Amino acid sequence: MTEKYLNNDVIPMLDLKAQYLPIKEDIKTALKEIIESGQFVLGHNVRSLEKEIAAYHHVSNGIGLASGTDSLHLCLKALGIKGGDEVITTPFTFIASAESIAYVGATPVFVDIQRDTLNIDVSQIEAKLTSSTTAIVIVHLFGQSVDMTEIMEIAKKHNLYVIEDCAQAFGAKYKENPVGSMGDAGCFSFYPSKNLGAYGDGGMMITNNTDLSEKVRLLRNHGTTGPYEHSFLGYNSRLDEIQAAILRIKLRHIDEYNQKRSSIAKLYTSMLNGSVTCPRELPDRSHVYHQYTIQSPSRDRIKQALVNSGISSVVYYPLPLHLQKAFTYLGHAEGDFPECETAAKEVLSLPIYPELELERAEHIANIILKTV
Ligand SMILES: *Cc1c(COP(=O)(O)O)cnc(C)c1O
Repeated sequence: MTEKYLNNDVIPMLDLKAQYLPIKEDIKTALKEIIESGQFVLGHNVRSLEKEIAAYHHVSNGIGLASGTDSLHLCLKALGIKGGDEVITTPFTFIASAESIAYVGATPVFVDIQRDTLNIDVSQIEAKLTSSTTAIVIVHLFGQSVDMTEIMEIAKKHNLYVIEDCAQAFGAKYKENPVGSMGDAGCFSFYPSKNLGAYGDGGMMITNNTDLSEKVRLLRNHGTTGPYEHSFLGYNSRLDEIQAAILRIKLRHIDEYNQKRSSIAKLYTSMLNGSVTCPRELPDRSHVYHQYTIQSPSRDRIKQALVNSGISSVVYYPLPLHLQKAFTYLGHAEGDFPECETAAKEVLSLPIYPELELERAEHIANIILKTV
C-alpha cells in the first residue's frame, strides 16, 4: 500500500486546502454575501456564531474576539485580575496562556506537569497558592481536558477563578461536559491550525456569568456604551464577519473533524504503543487530538528519520515558558520544573488532521518503528 507514498511525497502537519475543498461552495456563497452586504464587523454572522458556540457548550454567552490571546487577556481583565495578583498556570504550553496573565500586570506562577498527559499536575497546585493567588488558567493541552473535578474543588476551597484555555481543545469533553463550560470562562482560539480554524485570526470567550460576558463585550469594542460614549477604556478586539461566517460553516463539521482525528490517533497508538510513549487517553474524558504527541528519548533520531522521508513533525514545545527569555524576570532556572523540562526534550508531534488518510498515518508509524 505504501508504494505511492514512499517517494518524493511530502506529508505535512496539516492540510487546510484538503479541508476547504468539500466546503468550497458554502464558503464562496457566504463570502460573496458578506462582501455584497458591506457589513464586515459585528454583524449577524458574529452574533449567530456566538449563539451557536454558546449552545454547543450549553452556556448562556459567547463573545467573538480578535484572537485566542485576546480572549484570555480580556477575560482576566474583566475578572479584575491585576498587578500584585498571582495566577497559577502550566509552563508547558503556548506562550499566550501566561502572556495574558502578564498583560494585566499579574504574575504567572507555574506548576509542573504530569508526564503522561502533559497537562498541569493538579496535585502540586495547592503548594503554590499564596494569599495573592486569585485565579488558575488551566490549559487543555493538545486536546485533552485537565481533571476539572479536582480543579474546581481547589478553586472553590480557595476562592479562585478558573479560566479554561481551550485553544487546543474545541469539542473535548470531561465527564460529558464540553471544555470551556466548567470554569468561570472558556477561552477559544480560531487560529487557522486549531481544530476549529478560521481563515485568519479569531477567538471567543464563553461563560455563564452574565456580568463577565457584558464586561468582555464592552472591552472588545473600546468600552463603548453608547454612540461615541465610553464608560471605561477598552480595546479593539472584534471578530470580523468573514471569519465568523467561515467558522459557522466549519462548526457544522467539527464533531466529524474531531472524530477523524481520533481514528488516526487510535491507529498511531495501536502501532506505536510500547515502542514510544503514546498520548494517554484518560477514561472519563474525550481527547480531540489537536496534536498527537509521542515521547521518546530517541526523539531527535525519530524526527530526522521523518525528515528523510519527507514527513513533517514538530516539537511542541522545545523551550518551557519558565526558561523563555521573555520570562527571565520571574527568576526561574533549569531544574525548577523537571517533568516539563524532560518532556521538552522528548516530545514530538506527528501529522494529524481530519483529511490525513489512515494509510499515510500507517506509513508514518512504520518509519518510526524502523527507527526506534
Ligand atoms: C493558539 C493558542 C493560544 C492563542 O491563540 P491565538 O488565537 O493564536 O491568539 C492560546 N493558548 C494556547 C494553548 C494555544 O494553543
